[in-house]
Amino acid sequence: MDLETELLTSSDDDIKKAAEIIAAGGIVGMPTETVYGLAADAENADAVRKIFMAKGRPQDNPLIVHLADISDISDYAYDIPDIAYKIAERFCPGPLTMVLPKRDRIPDITSAGLDTVGIRIPSHKAARKLIKFSGKAIAAPSANLSGSPSPTTAIHVMNDMNGKIPAVIDGGSCPVGVESTVISFESGKIRILRPGFVLAEELSEFGEVIIDRHITEAADNGEKVLSPGMKYKHYSPKANVTIIDGDSEHYIEFVNSHGGEGVFAMPFDSDEPFCRIPAVPYGDTCEEQAAKLFDVLRKFDEIGAKQVYARCPAVSGVGLAVYNRLLRAAGFEIIKIT
Ligand code: AMP
Ligand code: MG
Repeated sequence: MDLETELLTSSDDDIKKAAEIIAAGGIVGMPTETVYGLAADAENADAVRKIFMAKGRPQDNPLIVHLADISDISDYAYDIPDIAYKIAERFCPGPLTMVLPKRDRIPDITSAGLDTVGIRIPSHKAARKLIKFSGKAIAAPSANLSGSPSPTTAIHVMNDMNGKIPAVIDGGSCPVGVESTVISFESGKIRILRPGFVLAEELSEFGEVIIDRHITEAADNGEKVLSPGMKYKHYSPKANVTIIDGDSEHYIEFVNSHGGEGVFAMPFDSDEPFCRIPAVPYGDTCEEQAAKLFDVLRKFDEIGAKQVYARCPAVSGVGLAVYNRLLRAAGFEIIKIT
């Protein structure tokens, strides 16, 4: 397939064009508050198959289904615990995905053969309009080639999908920058399967929260994981990424003694003035780091980096989401300096 990919604006007319593509069984790039998604009618197996093909996504990695309103959830899921509704009232629309038993109208290809479905109600205006104008539940994984850093601008989507999809809606930079928090429910308890902008601390108001150990630990070969995305190396630029876990002084000392051809630092903004090797900083606060992470990882590809030494983010608050993505980008390669 070699198409001319059209860059659409977020005007109602352009979103209507995109909605027509979705309703006719096509796929389009869609901005959301987390990252850009590759959108298709969640109930159309042929349309969803196009997403897997365009991304090169493994068939056993399920897609999240995006809906307009909380009242739509029961059309696509059943046995929804009360706690799920309480959590939805608080965080939806927003960067939260709830894994629930799926109704048969969701085809197996969308849920990758699981009997559950991840449901999210996005807050981004363009995404909400696309759902409403198309009249469809929208299946959408991140709009990157599988394994690459997720896209947080329309240009990122173009870089990965140009010629493979008919259109991308440009909705500007994604404010959150990392994918949604994914949770499931286990007899009154809330399990976090993927950390994001909605935090364990906030969810704990609604019940006991379990942070799945595969958020910070690699799954062994063939080990069963509760969320298929946990198995894959992900979010990776072509360069080898190594996380350096240490304070500012130790980090700077490390990078300044490990320079070489194609070697880059990925420091906090406040470290950058002290780095004597080429550096692309990724912010100081966890929120800045979440918003910049994927753009910075993609920059390393553009400049032909071979080795990147990233300073380890704080592993609390939104920092847990940043750490989780960086660990996968680094293939769990981390050097602790004390
Ligand atoms: P992406 O669409 O690229 O943000 O990836 C979505 C991720 O959500 C997948 O990789 C899964 O790890 C997780 N997910 C989606 N649906 C389910 C489900 N039914 N059960 C468990 N995890 C899910
Ligand atoms: Mg993804």
